[in-house]
Amino acid sequence: MTDIQTKYLGGMVGSALGDAIGELAFQYRKKDDLCIQLDKSKEFSYTDDTAMSIGLAESIIKKSCLDQHDLGETFRYNYEREPWRGYASGPPTIFSMVEQLSITYAEAARSLFGNTGSLGNGAAMRIVPVGLFFHDSPDLYEKACMSASVTHAHPVGKDGAAVQARAISCAMKLDPKEAFPYKAFMDTLIDSAITPQIEEKMLRVQKLINAQGPPSFAAEQLGRTVAVHESMPFALFSFLHHPKSFEDCLFCATLHGGDRDTLGAMACAISGAYLGIESIPQSWSQKLENRSYIEDLALRLSKVRPVD
Ligand SMILES: [Mg+2]
Repeated sequence: MTDIQTKYLGGMVGSALGDAIGELAFQYRKKDDLCIQLDKSKEFSYTDDTAMSIGLAESIIKKSCLDQHDLGETFRYNYEREPWRGYASGPPTIFSMVEQLSITYAEAARSLFGNTGSLGNGAAMRIVPVGLFFHDSPDLYEKACMSASVTHAHPVGKDGAAVQARAISCAMKLDPKEAFPYKAFMDTLIDSAITPQIEEKMLRVQKLINAQGPPSFAAEQLGRTVAVHESMPFALFSFLHHPKSFEDCLFCATLHGGDRDTLGAMACAISGAYLGIESIPQSWSQKLENRSYIEDLALRLSKVRPVD
């Protein structure tokens, strides 16, 4: 396995495990109880976060680029096959509008919430294939926004997803055997943010990491709701608080309340892309639902050459 392949696998499998274990953490809210359940469970089932990451990877592999129409069609096809994955109301509403009104996915997404579009974390939760595939592209930010626009049209919804993609791409390019470059990493994310809401939260993450305060305080300060500016920052904090341990990052992200599955998916996408697949406990990855398909997608994605 090459260094780049271990990062693709780490990002995709990591994000799916964060999602699946985060979902269990709604029921098992103490670390000891969650760990007992992780030992007992035969399979870790993922939710809409991973179903949509899979769709993003499938569409990029099929088109060798980001094609909004194909992405919307892939999301819709996967939703219709598995509507029980815990989707929010936005995606199915958009899919119906596209069919009934003959408009594009982006147009339908713009019409939601009184024509402001969604600023939920649904575009950021699934962004790992974009962060991996476009990690060296000068268009990473733009591609992330394009992928978000199919369902999340609000500037904060797109900015949050694009900054999460940037975090994944930066983490992927770093050598985990070296000291983690906190300042350069956070400066890049602060520079990437274009909305005041995301920029302010990135500055706050930097301050909290520098102050080395407890995660419970950071969780209160940063938020843990389904709004992207109130969950992606704490996911990022969870990674930065535990950059060298996939397990500790996952427990930090999923055991402080709020939108646990998506906090896990976002934090563990960055951790997996930084540390690589070897850092993820096999006792966990072996139980991940559809693991071999997710690994196959990660490896195929790593071999696609962009046509754009
Ligand atoms: Mg979910």
